[in-house]
Amino acid sequence: MCGVVGLHAPENGKLSYYIFYALLALQHRGQESCGITVRGRDFVTEKGMGQVNEVFNFEKLNGLKGEAGIGHVRYSTTGESELFNAQPFVVRHSHGTIAIAHNGNIVNAEELREKLKAAGQAFVSTTDTEVIAHLIVREYLRTGDMVEAISMSMRKLVGSYSLVLLTDDALIGVRDPLGIRPLSMGRMGKSGVIFASETVAFDVINAEFERDVKPGEIVVVSEEGVHSHRPYKLPRRAHCMFEYVYFSRPDSVLNGIPVYEVREKLGMLMAEEDDTEADLVTPIPDSAIPFALGYSRAKGVPYREGLIRNRYVGRTFILPSQQARELAVKLKLNPLVRQLSGKRVVLFDDSIVRGTTSRRIISLLRGAGAKEVHMRVGCPPIRSPCMLGIDMPTRSELIAGGRSVEEIRRIIGADTLRYTSLEALVKAIGLRESELCLGCITGRYPVEIARYQQLRLPVYMEHGQA
Ligand code: SF4
Repeated sequence: MCGVVGLHAPENGKLSYYIFYALLALQHRGQESCGITVRGRDFVTEKGMGQVNEVFNFEKLNGLKGEAGIGHVRYSTTGESELFNAQPFVVRHSHGTIAIAHNGNIVNAEELREKLKAAGQAFVSTTDTEVIAHLIVREYLRTGDMVEAISMSMRKLVGSYSLVLLTDDALIGVRDPLGIRPLSMGRMGKSGVIFASETVAFDVINAEFERDVKPGEIVVVSEEGVHSHRPYKLPRRAHCMFEYVYFSRPDSVLNGIPVYEVREKLGMLMAEEDDTEADLVTPIPDSAIPFALGYSRAKGVPYREGLIRNRYVGRTFILPSQQARELAVKLKLNPLVRQLSGKRVVLFDDSIVRGTTSRRIISLLRGAGAKEVHMRVGCPPIRSPCMLGIDMPTRSELIAGGRSVEEIRRIIGADTLRYTSLEALVKAIGLRESELCLGCITGRYPVEIARYQQLRLPVYMEHGQA
C-alpha cells in the first residue's frame, strides 16, 4: 500500500513540483510518510512523516532542483511507521548513488536480509525496500551493469514490487514478473518521461499516458532515450484484484481497464443475481458509489445518498490501530434520516475486511429509521490475509476467515447479506482468472508463500497454497 512516481524531465525547471502534484494524486495509496529525491549535481532528498501537503512547502520544493526525481507515499506493510523507514531510500556506494521507491511487499525479505547481514551489509531501516536497494547495489558493484544488477536481483526477490529507481545517469521503472502492483508510464512535454502507480497521477500534471510497464520489465530512461529490457517473461500474470475493487482511485486505468467501469459493472452483476425488494440503494461513500450506481441502473431501484461523509477524516482501513479505526468510523459518516426513515435499504460496500465498519454503519442506518438493511458487497469474502503489499489483518481478524456468510450477516446485523461471486468479479474486471491475483479470496497465492511463512508472516495455515 504505497504509491510511487518517477519523472525524467531535464528541460523542466519545476520537476519537484510535478512530482509533488503527482504524489498528491496518489495520496490515497499511503498517508504515513512521503518523500522526494531529485538528482541534479548531487542527490537531494526531502521526506517526513505525514501527508504530502504536510511534509512539503515552497521552500523544500524549491530546494529540490534536478533533471530527474522519484517520489513515494507510504503505508507500511513491512517495517514500522517511522521516519527511518520513509522513502525514497538512498544508498551511496563506491561507484555512485542509487535512490529507490517501492510499492509492494517482498515475501522473502527477512531471508535476504539475513544473507546480506551475514555478508557484512549494515541496515539502517527495517523495510524490504532497503533489502532491494542493497541487493541491486551489490550486483551492480559485481557486474558494473545496472540492468544486469536489477535483473539478477529480480531473480532473488519473491513477492510484489513496482519500483522507481534513480541512478547517476538514469531513471528506471521496474515491475515484478507477475505484475501484481500497477505501474504506468507516460510522456510529459517535449522530452519528459514519467512513471506512476496510477494513471490519475498523469491526469493532474497533464502528462499523457503511454502504456503500462509490462510484468517483469525494466524500463531505463536516460539521455540516450528510453530502453526496455524484459529478462523475465512468465506464462501468467497476477494483477491484484483488490486494486480494482477498493485500492486504486476510480478515475485510474489499470492494465488498460478503467477502474470506475469495473466497479459499476460489479454493481450491475450483483443486481442481476439479486431478487431483494428495496426502496433505495445507497453506497458507503466514496469507494462504493460506482457499485451502487451500477446496481441502481441495472435493477431500477433509486440511488440515494444515505450517508454523508466528512471528507477530512481519512480512510478507516488505512489507519494503523484498531482504536483509531473505530474512532474514525464515528467521525466520518452521518446518516441522512429523511432519506432513510421507513425505507428498505440496499447498502453497498466494496469489500468487508474486519466487519467492524459494516456493523457500525448498519447500526447507524437502523438508528436513522431504516426498516430493512440489505448489505451487498462488491467482492467475494476476504478469507486470507494479503502478503503482497496490501495491509490486511491476520486471518483471525478477518470477519470472513472461517465464518459462513450467514454467520457474518448475524455479526454485522444486516437483514440479508450477499457477496459478489468469484465468477462475477473476474467477469467485471475482464481478465482471465489466471491473469489475476485472488489470493485473499481463495488462499492460493501466485508466488511461493509457504516457505516464507515461518520467517515473519503471522498468517493462517489451513488454506492451501499455490
Ligand atoms: S492477496 Fe488479495 S490484496 Fe493481496 S495482492 Fe492478491 S488479490 Fe491483492
